[in-house]
Amino acid sequence: MDARPNRSATAPGGAPSDQPSPTSAANDETILHLRGITKTFPGVKALDDVDLEVRRGEVHALLGENGAGKSTLMKVLSGIYQANSGEIILEGEPITLNGPLDAKSKGILLIHQELSLVPGLSVAENIFLGSLPTQALRSVKWSKLRSDAQEILDRLNCTFGPNERVGKLSIANQQMVEIARALAFSPKIVIFDEPTSSLTEQEKNVLFENINRLRDQGVAMIYISHRMDEIFELSDRITVLRDGRHRGTVFTDETNEDEVTRLMIGRYLEEYFEEIDTGTLGDEVLRVDGLTVPDLFEDVSFSVRAGEVVGFYGLIGAGRSEVAETLFGLRTPSAGQTYLYGEPVTLSGPTEAVDRGLGFVPEDRKEQGLVLGMSVRENISLPLLDDIQRAGFLNPGEEQRLYREYKDKLEIKTPGPNQRALNLSGGNQQKIVIAKWLARNPRLLILDEPTRGIDVGSKSEIHKLIGELAANGIAVIVISSEMPEIMGVSHRILTMYDGRITGEFDGSTVTEDDLITASIGGAAAEGGSDPSQAGDAGDDGDASGAASTP
Ligand code: ADP
Ligand code: MG
Repeated sequence: MDARPNRSATAPGGAPSDQPSPTSAANDETILHLRGITKTFPGVKALDDVDLEVRRGEVHALLGENGAGKSTLMKVLSGIYQANSGEIILEGEPITLNGPLDAKSKGILLIHQELSLVPGLSVAENIFLGSLPTQALRSVKWSKLRSDAQEILDRLNCTFGPNERVGKLSIANQQMVEIARALAFSPKIVIFDEPTSSLTEQEKNVLFENINRLRDQGVAMIYISHRMDEIFELSDRITVLRDGRHRGTVFTDETNEDEVTRLMIGRYLEEYFEEIDTGTLGDEVLRVDGLTVPDLFEDVSFSVRAGEVVGFYGLIGAGRSEVAETLFGLRTPSAGQTYLYGEPVTLSGPTEAVDRGLGFVPEDRKEQGLVLGMSVRENISLPLLDDIQRAGFLNPGEEQRLYREYKDKLEIKTPGPNQRALNLSGGNQQKIVIAKWLARNPRLLILDEPTRGIDVGSKSEIHKLIGELAANGIAVIVISSEMPEIMGVSHRILTMYDGRITGEFDGSTVTEDDLITASIGGAAAEGGSDPSQAGDAGDDGDASGAASTP
């Protein structure tokens, strides 16, 4: 316990931790210290008094949920953003960074999530492109360039040569070039921001080998990922950010996923539990029995009552979104029966779904939910155009009324009704999508990953909103891959794995372990076949119970 490094750095608002601990062993040498970094954007405090201490030759994982501030912190460290306050101390000296090139020249390198290579140029040219002014490239000795490049490629055990066109390499190898390029500067600190998001398993292994090689060469690395398995495989220490604040730094081999998850989500959980109104639920709004779409999901049965929030938890690809799309008439089931308000229905398509009181906020709001080029006002009234026009004419007064009603109700932050949706933050865009459905007074609203990619502040507002919708009698289905979110907003949680429902849990008593086990298929044997939530779901409305009698 007391062996943990600089735990004192955690204390926010307290005295900052002492100098890079002079008592540490030789290989504990601090190379970088970020101290009290605060960074605000209009309306968002992205970083609040954050400390981070990194040692020579370590892989320091930076972990946190979407919007926790990881990328922002790394952009401050790589000179892309200027912090509002705080210090960057490199090898004991406070430094200031005037832009990314300055950071680079001081030995701090950010490997971007999006690669920044020139596909038409050779590997060698790409490696040195950033280091030489383009003018100097013309007078460069190409043979030296190639041999220098070869030397770096050798250090990385690369299987390709300096003359190959970058555009012909695999993504993993392109990433190697990006790393080779970093090495050309003899960097002190290399930052990887979600580097594996576009890599195959095999490519990932190559990357990890190279990271380990860099570690052996004494390079300090900061590794951002939300993949727990990777972090435990790779890192020496883990720092967790949440809501823009430093929540703890731990040695990887002295901690476990549970502890780290708790640091990641912490208080967040309790906060949202309080939001749930467990008051009386109304009649059953939706029930499906044995719903099946071949190859996507099978034998899905559940029900949702008025005023109830039912959460769907599972891994990406478990089939949750596909179930939602089918409920909304976007896919045709091969088997199973859907009941709305107690009546069997077969939806001909989304139009009928909408007519019958369903609303669907899809996962990719930019593609499916929102017309970015249109104004806020137009977007809100979009699915209503039909109705408004049906009345004979498009009524600008009505549009304006809806705009005002929902801007206030959902606290949409926009300069005005004519602002294009494009220019709003992700959180506010999402509110617009929700607003446009609310304007139709839906009886069942399906939200697929409602807070993905939006900032923490808007996130909690949307969670609150979900609670309010339910309190107003709307039946709500929430699909989320974020455990605290699903645990926080749901009355009842269904887990899916590989196209099947594997468990059903009471939202107020479920544990993280329950959800993890069920979402990797483990509960199929125990919890899945015995969802003893009949009491919670009410009389005979319980999904699995009803499934046996079509
Ligand atoms: P992470 O990388 O941990 O997902 P980010 O650092 O990207 O988190 O974001 C932290 C917070 O700062 C979020 O609320 C995000 O919306 C906000 N944010 C990040 N970059 C900007 C920006 N350029 N302008 C406004 N807000 C931003
Ligand atoms: Mg990020």
